[in-house]
Amino acid sequence: MFALTDQVVIITGGAKGIGKGIAATMIEAGATVVVTDVDESGVRKAAEELGAEFEVLDVGSKSSCQRAVKAIQERHQRIDVVCSNAGIFPQAALDTMSEEDWEAVIGVNLRGAFFMTQAVLPGMRERGYGRIVLTSSITGPLTGFPGWTHYGASKAGQLGFMRSAALECASDGITINAVMPGNVLTEGLKEQGDDYLRQMAESIPTRQLCEPQDIAYAVCFLASPEARYITGQTLIVDGGQVLPESFEALD
Ligand code: NAP
Repeated sequence: MFALTDQVVIITGGAKGIGKGIAATMIEAGATVVVTDVDESGVRKAAEELGAEFEVLDVGSKSSCQRAVKAIQERHQRIDVVCSNAGIFPQAALDTMSEEDWEAVIGVNLRGAFFMTQAVLPGMRERGYGRIVLTSSITGPLTGFPGWTHYGASKAGQLGFMRSAALECASDGITINAVMPGNVLTEGLKEQGDDYLRQMAESIPTRQLCEPQDIAYAVCFLASPEARYITGQTLIVDGGQVLPESFEALD
């Protein structure tokens, strides 16, 4: 029903996990994808596997975002889609969390979304077209998890940022939306072992963990030209994880 044919896409945090899954699915949908990541060897390897271009980009640095965006614009004359996906999720208890712990998570997850959006806006405004898709989370906007006060704040903050940004961009043909993943079966999660994965799957109504591809399909839709009338919105992709109001509701 929709395609990303010839769309120039930049994905942050694309060396692995959800970002790499988004890249693979977007390439299948016809997009020209530039995967970016702070991890140079990782992003080089991912790009080789995917048949994508790559740039080293640290979303926590405004100059790094602007440099990579400039390089891609010079090569392709435009950027149609930004997937602001890079994120970190170290756990830290509230009682002992340091200022550095807080700043690190907010710096990548929330400030990174701001830096990336700001870096692509001039080019998108000039062309009167753009799609920005943030990878938020259910954790923060809808749910909580011990050890993730900073992470939850950053993911809820992304949605607050998105809604006002959507209003500032709407009249220039630029949309900004967010996906909210549940528990996604990435390399990191797999390392937690089978028992952990089984228990986690049991807490989800569909009894299955999310695959990166499940997030990617939602991102592809919001990134498509056909989603032009949707802005400032969220799409929860969690297998119904946030729905049960009690353990009995899962039986
Ligand atoms: P991941 O597998 O750890 O991949 C994230 C990638 O981002 C890594 O390659 C990482 O590099 C990179 N990165 C870290 N800091 C960066 C920076 N400053 N600039 C650019 N890239 C950076 O994580 P994921 O699970 O795919 O998560 C991707 C996004 O989905 C995150 O925003 C996360 O909050 C969100 N999310 C994930 C889940 C889940 O279940 N996995 C659920 C909800 C939301 P390094 O490995 O070198 O740090």
